[in-house]
Amino acid sequence: MSHTNYKLNTLLIHAGVEPDPTTGAIMTPIYQTSTYVQEAPGKHKGYEYARTQNPTRTVLQNALAAIEKGKHGLCFGSGLAATDAIMKLLKPGDEVISTNDLYGGTYRIFTKVFQPYGLKFHFTGMSDVQAAAALITDKTKMIWVETPTNPLLNIIDIEAFAKLAHQHNILLVVDNTFASPYLQNPLTLGADVVIHSATKYLGGHSDVVHGAIIVNRDDLHEQLTFIQNACGAVPGPHDCWLVLRGIKTLHVRMQRHCENGEKVAKYLRSHPKVEKVYWIGFEDHPNHDVAKKQMRGYGGMISFVLKGDNMDDALQVLSGTHLFSLAESLGGVESLIGHPASMTHGSIPREERIKNGLADSLIRLSVGIEDVDDLISDLAHAIG
Ligand SMILES: *Cc1c(COP(=O)(O)O)cnc(C)c1O
Repeated sequence: MSHTNYKLNTLLIHAGVEPDPTTGAIMTPIYQTSTYVQEAPGKHKGYEYARTQNPTRTVLQNALAAIEKGKHGLCFGSGLAATDAIMKLLKPGDEVISTNDLYGGTYRIFTKVFQPYGLKFHFTGMSDVQAAAALITDKTKMIWVETPTNPLLNIIDIEAFAKLAHQHNILLVVDNTFASPYLQNPLTLGADVVIHSATKYLGGHSDVVHGAIIVNRDDLHEQLTFIQNACGAVPGPHDCWLVLRGIKTLHVRMQRHCENGEKVAKYLRSHPKVEKVYWIGFEDHPNHDVAKKQMRGYGGMISFVLKGDNMDDALQVLSGTHLFSLAESLGGVESLIGHPASMTHGSIPREERIKNGLADSLIRLSVGIEDVDDLISDLAHAIG
C-alpha cells in the first residue's frame, strides 16, 4: 500500500503498518528474536540476524520515514546513539558548526567524545545566519541545528541554513525532538538529516528511551545503515513497538500540548512574580516570524525566570508543584518541571551557560495533556 497521498493524521496511524503476514494480527507483533532460521545457507526471508534487521523495527523505520516526509528511517537505542551514528559520518579534521544552547547531552558527546577523536566544533548563536556563515572553512562538513532550542526556545531558520549549507556542500542536520513531525518537517525545508530523541514526543508516554534518524538521500541512508549495523546501537523490538504505539496518537497529543502550552504561557506572563517567559508562540518572541513560517504550532515547552532571578525562590517552585513532577525529560502526556542548570544542562560549564543566557534560576516546563485548569492551579500554588 502506498502511503504517500495520505495526510499526516492518517499516516501517524497507518504508515508502514501492514497486517502481520503470518496471522493477520492488526498490530505489529514484537519479534523478540535474535536470529532467523534459513532454509539453506543464504536462503532466507530477508532477515538473518537481529542487530541488522528486525521486523518490528522495520515497520517503525518505515513509519518514521513517512511521518517526517522522508524516504528512509533508522532506529537507535537512544537519541544520543542516533547522534553518535551521525557523527561517525565525519572524519578526523572535519569541523562542525552548532548552536550555543544545544541539548546538554549533545554538547557533551560533541566536546567530550568526538573532539578527542579529532573533530572540531564551533558553537554560536544561530538566530543570525551570518554569524554562523563566518565560521565556515573548507573543513566544515556539518551544520547541526536544534530548533526550538532547549531550554531557551530560540528558533533557527532551517530554510536559511539549508541554503547556506548547500552552497558550501555541507550537511545540515536538524534535531527535531522539540517540535516533533506534527509541528515541523525539516526535510521539506531542505535539511539532509533529521534526528529525534523518540524518548520525548514520539514515544510520548515517558516509558521508553529511543532514537531515530530520517533522511531522503540514498547515499546517506546506506552509510547510516552500515554504521547502525557495524556499531550496533540498535533498539530492542519491544522499545520499537512502544514508539510505534506512541506515534499513533502524536497528532491528538500535540494538539493538546499546544493548547495547554498557550494557556500556561499566557498565565505565567500575567503573573506578577514572573520576570520573563520563554514561549515561541508570543508575537514578540524574537524569532516568532520564523517559527510561524516553519512550524504548524508552538508546542508545550515553556521556560521562565522569576523576578529577582533568585535561586531560593526558584527552588521553592521546583519542589512546590504536585502535578508537575520534578524530573528530566519532556514530551510525555504528564507535565514535568525541571531546572536546566542542575539537571539537563548540568554538563555545560556554568560560565558557558550564563554567557548564553541560561540563568541559574531558569525553570523549564514540559506542559502535559492534563486539564489545563488543574495545571495552572498547581503553578499558582507553587509560585505563591
Ligand atoms: C533528550 C534529547 C536528546 C537525547 O536523546 P536521548 O533519547 O535521551 O538519548 C537529544 N536532543 C534533544 C533535543 C533532547 O531533548
